[in-house]
Amino acid sequence: MTSTLSVQEHAAAAFELMRHHGVPPSPENFTVWYHYHRRTYAELNRVIDALIKGDQSFDENRNGDIYVRFFGNEVGREVTLGAAASTERILQQVLERVGAARSDVADYAGFLRDTSDTLQHTEDVGSLAATLSGLIEETARIQQQNEQLERQLQKSSEEITVLRRDLETIQRDAETDALTDIANRKRFDAALRDRAREAAVDDKPLCLIFADIDRFKQFNDLYGHQMGDQVLKLVARSLKDSIREGDLPARYGGEEFAVILPDATIDVASEIGERIRRTIASRRIVRRDSKVELGAITLSAGIALYEPGETMASLIDRADEALYVAKRSGRNKVVTEEQLRDPDKNAF
Ligand code: GH3
Ligand code: MG
Ligand code: MG
Repeated sequence: MTSTLSVQEHAAAAFELMRHHGVPPSPENFTVWYHYHRRTYAELNRVIDALIKGDQSFDENRNGDIYVRFFGNEVGREVTLGAAASTERILQQVLERVGAARSDVADYAGFLRDTSDTLQHTEDVGSLAATLSGLIEETARIQQQNEQLERQLQKSSEEITVLRRDLETIQRDAETDALTDIANRKRFDAALRDRAREAAVDDKPLCLIFADIDRFKQFNDLYGHQMGDQVLKLVARSLKDSIREGDLPARYGGEEFAVILPDATIDVASEIGERIRRTIASRRIVRRDSKVELGAITLSAGIALYEPGETMASLIDRADEALYVAKRSGRNKVVTEEQLRDPDKNAF
């Protein structure tokens, strides 16, 4: 039923709700409450309803948390501030238009009162007709203004939608490696911290695979950097094809890749690492133009298991150490830190 309301009505109701719950007016809070009233996101409504039911106050921290959770993003502060300024400008316009409309409606109400007085005291049919036609004219004018306001509000709402979509694109670009289209180092670092925190809280294992292409310098020297770039893309695709849902493949640096594996033991990670290694070794690199086959590419990988409480640097170090052993013992291999420690499993 709410969906049949106009943008103006949703905006007005959002302000009323904010006033009622003591939420200070700000572009962020308005966004939250506008969508709450519109019921755009079921989860947002569930969260706010639960807070209202629990008689929780909407203080600055809570408002900020809700906004960030549903509308926030981690793009650079500058971009966010720029968008906030644009949103604020749009909101300012909305407020001005709503204010102007309100005073127009007040004028109209005054006009109706005057007309009603005139009608009560008029007996002359001629002036009655003039009064009525004045009334019709004034009604048409206010109706037109309302329609115009509604169009303007619709436009503002669309502008905010476009702004949010732009922000999502910017955020995605800022965290994606342009060549391989998988997560870049920035996203990897943030994700590793998040997954480690979750693993510690949920008491679940978390593994990290570190992989490096074998003798890649030689490949570049032989076939050129552009062919090398094609190989990097192929490796990224192979990573994506070999992992489970929820795993995060990333380009860590030049020809180094990493995969974060939540809820994976060393054995599970080892299996996935092997799958990645096999997939890449089985693919043949072919020159696109001449169709000449350039042979196979291999990579080596090291795997470490997160120990709750340790730093990310220390986890990465152990995966790197295992990778180093994989390289030293002949390449095209997957080595786990377990194999490094356990003499029975140590084949090196
Ligand atoms: P190893 O088996 O020991 O890893 O040998 P490697 O030759 O792969 O190792 P090294 O670290 O000596 O060389 C890495 C090479 O990776 C050097 C550089 O030419 C190449 N490389 C790094 N980033 C890129 C990139 O973005 N594109 C291309 N085409 N090559 C890259
Ligand atoms: Mg390297
Ligand atoms: Mg290498």
